[in-house]
Amino acid sequence: MSVFKRVRNTFRLLKSVDMDQLAKINQQIDLSEAMKTLGALDERQLKGLMKMLKTKRKKGQSDLPPIDGDFYNLDLKLTGEQRNLQMEVRNFMEDEIRPLVNDHWNRAKFPMEIIEKFKKLNITGVPYKGYGCPNLPFLMEGVIAQEIARVDVSISTFFGVHSGLAMGSIYLCGSEEQKQEWLPKMQKLEKIGAFGLTEPNVGSGVAGGLETSCKFDGENWILNGQKKWIGNATFADVIVIWARDEDSNQVKGFLVKKENPGFKAEKMEDKMALRIVQNALITLDNCRVPESDRLQNANSFKDTAKVLRMTRAGVAWQAVGCARGAYESALKYTRKREQFGRPIASYQLIQNHLVEMLSNLTAMQTLVFRLSEMQDAGMLSDEHASLAKVFCSMRTRDVVSRAREVLGGNGILLEYDVARFVADAEAIYSYEGTKEINSLIVGRAITGYSAFVS
Ligand SMILES: Cc1cc2nc3c(=O)[nH]c(=O)nc-3n(C[C@H](O)[C@H](O)[C@H](O)COP(=O)(O)OP(=O)(O)OC[C@H]3O[C@@H](n4cnc5c(N)ncnc54)[C@H](O)[C@@H]3O)c2cc1C
Repeated sequence: MSVFKRVRNTFRLLKSVDMDQLAKINQQIDLSEAMKTLGALDERQLKGLMKMLKTKRKKGQSDLPPIDGDFYNLDLKLTGEQRNLQMEVRNFMEDEIRPLVNDHWNRAKFPMEIIEKFKKLNITGVPYKGYGCPNLPFLMEGVIAQEIARVDVSISTFFGVHSGLAMGSIYLCGSEEQKQEWLPKMQKLEKIGAFGLTEPNVGSGVAGGLETSCKFDGENWILNGQKKWIGNATFADVIVIWARDEDSNQVKGFLVKKENPGFKAEKMEDKMALRIVQNALITLDNCRVPESDRLQNANSFKDTAKVLRMTRAGVAWQAVGCARGAYESALKYTRKREQFGRPIASYQLIQNHLVEMLSNLTAMQTLVFRLSEMQDAGMLSDEHASLAKVFCSMRTRDVVSRAREVLGGNGILLEYDVARFVADAEAIYSYEGTKEINSLIVGRAITGYSAFVS
């Protein structure tokens, strides 16, 4: 249809409008003036006007729905107080942590100054009773892990190692005296903890294969061996070391202080994930530990496994936080980034990626919520925690890779956060039990057959 025909039709349309409607339009624009102006336009100007009218009005960012990775409003299941704490952690992470993570990740440095800032939040040792700990439900420990990982997985790993693995070992396996000595100071982050189980030659097979040995010489325990990947260990005050007793062949736990003679922690360099976390290779060379620093209630690997069961749920929540951070960053980016004259979020293929991300994220969130409910009800078994760890760490890999995809080239630049989530998802996938090992735990539970090779 020619431009002239369209303008003529518009005039006809206006003529068909009844008096009331005309009066309303007239209140908003001076119709006779508009007609005069239209009539005075030449063909080129009319064409330009028609093109302008055809172009859809661009939506401003403020017209768009809020960016929120909690699509099923699971937050509404929290009490008012719990929600307040969640928001306090979120604001803290946005204001204090987000501005410094990419730089520290790039330089593989841990921002020591944040420990002082974290103290104010009082979120250490969340589920433990006594020793100055908040004694909140496990659900809140999970929610907090998600909030921290949503901004940075390294910081949530620092926290998980200290508050979960190290404090948890003392809480579950320490004597009352040991708990009194360490937990209040660790709760206030005055003393930092690490957890040393994995070794250079033994990862998945730690249950039966620990090479680090301990031997009682009548006065002290003598520890020999190496531990690999130990988070926080370059600066931790106390490192929980798991070793096999040369006499009884049972696994025992020890509270090794950083100044112990015979203890050495060397930073592991050149990681491509969780670069802020200070992982160490620990060497124990005739390291002497007094009986008073042996975890008094850790008598076999079953006790070590209790700690892992308690913290594995937290790792599943961490995966959810990582996926949520990547999804929200991707959604924000696609609404701003324009190609072919429109935001890429308006394209069907991009929306498909976003919806797939959100589906995975929502499935993970509902799963970990139920997992924590079971933990709070005392119903959590190894296989429940393992299933959540397997599912969430796998789905998170999928979410972050789609996030990276919709960012195009910027998906591999640290500046846009998604690249960091992509790398860090790889560490979540492997630590606290690989996909295979956690699958074998679930497989054993559902089939009744153990497929572990002994
Ligand atoms: C960033 C990071 C931080 C970590 N922090 C800590 C820490 O603070 N403290 C600590 O103690 N440890 C820590 N770890 C160690 C972590 O728990 C181990 O990496 C993990 O348990 C796997 O062990 P591995 O790397 O030696 O792999 P391996 O055990 O050598 O496994 C290699 C591959 O073989 C597969 N495999 C092994 N056995 C079987 C089987 N029977 N059947 C089928 N497949 C099998 C595994 O699934 C995996 O795919 C950390 C690791 C990383 C990457």
